[in-house]
Amino acid sequence: MPALATLPDAHGHFGPYGGMFVPETLMAALQELTAEYERARRDLSFQQELDELLRNFAGRPTPLYFAERLTNELSGAKIYLKREDLLHTGAHKINNALGQILLARRMGKQRIIAETGAGQHGVATATVAARFGCECVIYMGAVDMERQALNVARMRFLGARVVAVTAGQATLKEAINEAMRDWVTNVRTTHYILGSALGSHPYPMMVRDFQRVIGVEARAQILEREERLPDLLIACVGGGSNAIGLFHPFLEDEAVRMIGVEAGGEGIRSGKHAARFQGGRLGVLQGTRTFVLTNDDGQIELTHSISAGLDYAAIGPEHSYLRDSGRIEYDYATDEEALRAFRTLAEVEGIIPALETAHAMAQVIKTAPTLSKDKLVLVNCSGRGDKDVATAAAHFGI
Ligand SMILES: *Cc1c(COP(=O)(O)O)cnc(C)c1O
Repeated sequence: MPALATLPDAHGHFGPYGGMFVPETLMAALQELTAEYERARRDLSFQQELDELLRNFAGRPTPLYFAERLTNELSGAKIYLKREDLLHTGAHKINNALGQILLARRMGKQRIIAETGAGQHGVATATVAARFGCECVIYMGAVDMERQALNVARMRFLGARVVAVTAGQATLKEAINEAMRDWVTNVRTTHYILGSALGSHPYPMMVRDFQRVIGVEARAQILEREERLPDLLIACVGGGSNAIGLFHPFLEDEAVRMIGVEAGGEGIRSGKHAARFQGGRLGVLQGTRTFVLTNDDGQIELTHSISAGLDYAAIGPEHSYLRDSGRIEYDYATDEEALRAFRTLAEVEGIIPALETAHAMAQVIKTAPTLSKDKLVLVNCSGRGDKDVATAAAHFGI
């Protein structure tokens, strides 16, 4: 096995996964972006500017919080939460959006586009576009616009134009298609801020690198608090950016176990889910080769999750590689389990998590009681749940 931390190769391959499966017209833009990113990551002034924004605009470092009551209630391993939900705009997405808008400025691109599912990436992008005075267009599935109305209003107040996408399932996949179409047409003036560790090279690598700050901080914080590394890391996996951001700085620490949690929807047998590692297969979707939910003809399957941010047919290519290598385990939580965990965290810890995050919490609730009290579990609290309160209230009849 090659040193995991050195991947991908120069063409964006994580073993057999990843790559650049895009129309000819986008190759020049992706190569320009790759070159600019390579320069920026070595440029001290870029790093300083990003650090300053992460600190004073976004609110880093985020706390590592000991969830004492949840720990007592589950009566197993000691549970720590990495509080990405406390960041400006309410989720980890701002880490990546800030990194990418600085790159857009270096490339002289004044127009910003993005896709969004739950709306958290759209809000983060609209926020950084406002901060730097850029024009901003967000593509969002019409179904997602309905279930995430709060975030649609936030984006509009931030000055973004939100374009409803009605094609197909009218969720994240179709929104990405529209954003790619816009990018092909306007590539000279426009930067596409992709929101997860997905798509063509260099996005999976670059988004991972911008999210690594989560794991770098968490590693230092747990060492300070407990004077040792955690035994288990847990994070939910949509495209996979909050998970890889937490996991990556621990990959070389062999004793640290990691579990990525996908959306089990209404259960795997129902077919209504978005758990790519439960029945998905090798395919190419939106720029990258990875595990994809397809039917026997290779057509993309419809997906389902209560959580718009996890409702996508492909998983980031690095996760496919890390699963093959056995370094990371992947499990899933159903809608029902996530909704229950959403309530538990609210009632026991006073934290209302995003429904995406609630999938990670459901895994904690399953796993922590099976571990002894001297074990440490560190879970990424990727976002806060304001946007999901209406969905949960409708479900529970509150
Ligand atoms: C977008 C989102 C996710 C899923 O995206 P990843 O790229 O897999 O992290 C998870 N949690 C929250 C709060 C989100 O907003």
